[in-house]
Amino acid sequence: MRSAVLHTLGSDLSVESLEPLPPAPRDVVVQVQASGICHTDLSMRNGLFPMMFSGPMIGGHEGAGVVVDVGAQVSRVALGDRVIASFRPACGTCPSCVAGRSHLCDAHGTFLHRPRALRHNGEQTVAMSGIGTFSEFLTCDEASVVRIESDLPASHLALLGCGMTTGVGAALFTARVQAGSTVAVLGCGGVGQSVIQGAAVAGAARIIAIDPIESKREIALRVGATDVIDPTTGPAHELVRELMRGRGVQYAFDVVGGPEAVASTYAMIDKGGMVVLVGYGPIDAELRLPAFDLQSQEKTVKGCVAGSAQVRRDFQKFIDLIETGRLKTDDLVSQEVALDDINIAMKAMLSGDVVRSVITAF
Ligand SMILES: [Zn+2]
Ligand SMILES: [Zn+2]
Repeated sequence: MRSAVLHTLGSDLSVESLEPLPPAPRDVVVQVQASGICHTDLSMRNGLFPMMFSGPMIGGHEGAGVVVDVGAQVSRVALGDRVIASFRPACGTCPSCVAGRSHLCDAHGTFLHRPRALRHNGEQTVAMSGIGTFSEFLTCDEASVVRIESDLPASHLALLGCGMTTGVGAALFTARVQAGSTVAVLGCGGVGQSVIQGAAVAGAARIIAIDPIESKREIALRVGATDVIDPTTGPAHELVRELMRGRGVQYAFDVVGGPEAVASTYAMIDKGGMVVLVGYGPIDAELRLPAFDLQSQEKTVKGCVAGSAQVRRDFQKFIDLIETGRLKTDDLVSQEVALDDINIAMKAMLSGDVVRSVITAF
């Protein structure tokens, strides 16, 4: 099978032919039809998560495809099922899953370093997030795939594997945005655009999209933002408060990450407001927050991983929202590319012109 492999942190991925290892009893083999390229793939490549890198790794963590083989003990999916891979497993039986927090599944980490294929020289490769979607085929534990029913193109379904679920879920499940409320979203890439859409589905009265790139602000307006701000024209929190006639917003989503972005979103929220940390900065970054203001104004600063979504419940829910036009995927898939163009597509993300590149030719 052809796969894009990360060999050294900081270097380009290499597209090569691998020999997949046979599936274990609980494993599923998926023919990947589409794989989104997410900013986290770039962060992984650039060495932001050294603890998750243990040697040659098939990249990618956002994909959709069809089940082509199953281990003897697999019960959740069958041959021919359409599935979306989830970058966080949802085993269904650990205390987190049983408590309705499958996005924090205790099995996360168990599959990260499992060998999945051999290189031509016999060297083993693992798969990013236990799935490795930059590949013609992927082998993963059944905890990492969700069977879905849809006629949507795989290039759109793939987005649910990470970016879209993270963003929509951040609004609907992490923050639980209320109808009629006010929202600001800092950073309008694939995830930020999805936060905007989640807030729109929730019925937010005002959704302010903040991004320095004009094309992203235009997309934001198409997918549900009511106002846009160019943060190169002044401090974002001041521009938000100007729009809000001096008040802050009730929910501010930091989809950029890092202490500066958190400080900026914190300065945007009203009394009783909430900052949601969707983006992430360097893993050793620490935050400084005004403790008395946080306490006395009843503000909340909340982490968010995978949009707090329960993938076995929510993937199909999101598909229904896409199929009925209330979540929009057209503007999110900027271009379809071939696996061979992986490194070019990853660089295109930095230029800011691309919301999402999706690999559809392997
Ligand atoms: Zn991602
Ligand atoms: Zn679990």
